[in-house]
Amino acid sequence: MTDDEFIQSQPWLSVARVTPILIITLHSTRGPTTQDLQYQATKNWMQSLGNVGERSDSDSTPLWGSSTNRIIGSDGQMCTAVPDDRYCTYGAGFGDVGSWAVDHYAINIELAQATNDQPFTDATLERCAQVCADLCRQYGIPPVWLDDVDQTAGPVPSGITSHELTDNGTRLRKTDVGKMFPIMAFMDMVKDGMELPERVQERVQALEDRQAEMLLKLDKVLYAIQDLQAALNAVADILILSPGDARAAWEVYQSGQYPRPVWPPIWPP
Ligand SMILES: [Zn+2]
Repeated sequence: MTDDEFIQSQPWLSVARVTPILIITLHSTRGPTTQDLQYQATKNWMQSLGNVGERSDSDSTPLWGSSTNRIIGSDGQMCTAVPDDRYCTYGAGFGDVGSWAVDHYAINIELAQATNDQPFTDATLERCAQVCADLCRQYGIPPVWLDDVDQTAGPVPSGITSHELTDNGTRLRKTDVGKMFPIMAFMDMVKDGMELPERVQERVQALEDRQAEMLLKLDKVLYAIQDLQAALNAVADILILSPGDARAAWEVYQSGQYPRPVWPPIWPP
């Protein structure tokens, strides 16, 4: 594994952080060059005078630009572009009105990928998993994948996510980190990388096995109930209701159109 690199990003690309680090947000570089050149290209962009999203009206000072905390290349090389004690002025910002900014709570990581169809290299994924494992340990972030970051609700969630799964990503129709990112396998790598003590790992594994077993049993019970319901309805001149049907049944019953007696007896839900 190569040593980490550090670069000095343009000053308007970050601000001193005053909020806790709770989220890791993954992105893909998607620059107009080959996969192996994405790393250098993104480093250049972070140092470029042209990386300005908006300037102040009064004196034209750059206010913000597209920014990231880390960049991981196709050979697994990593660069810190914005240190953890500063947040990016734009990595994945706000959703709609009334939302909180993901960047205020996140470490953003850019992964080398030229297009949404290009697979990430193993070296990129392995390095990213190790970095995420280290960040999870360091900041107490649980190694869980966040499927939907609702930026209007509180409290701010904690875990690992991708730009497209935030409200900001939805609003801007982002497609990174994208369909080629192997979420399940990656999260396993992160958990492995956290090097939990063996007895903790065994306990986690046992709990996961137990959960899978219970879900299987629950499925069987639900199928059995459905079969029973169907069988009873077939032989009896009564209609068996599941609890979710109660309100609808009550409304029909009240309308005087209910054709058959029901079980359990209907009362207002
Ligand atoms: Zn992004």
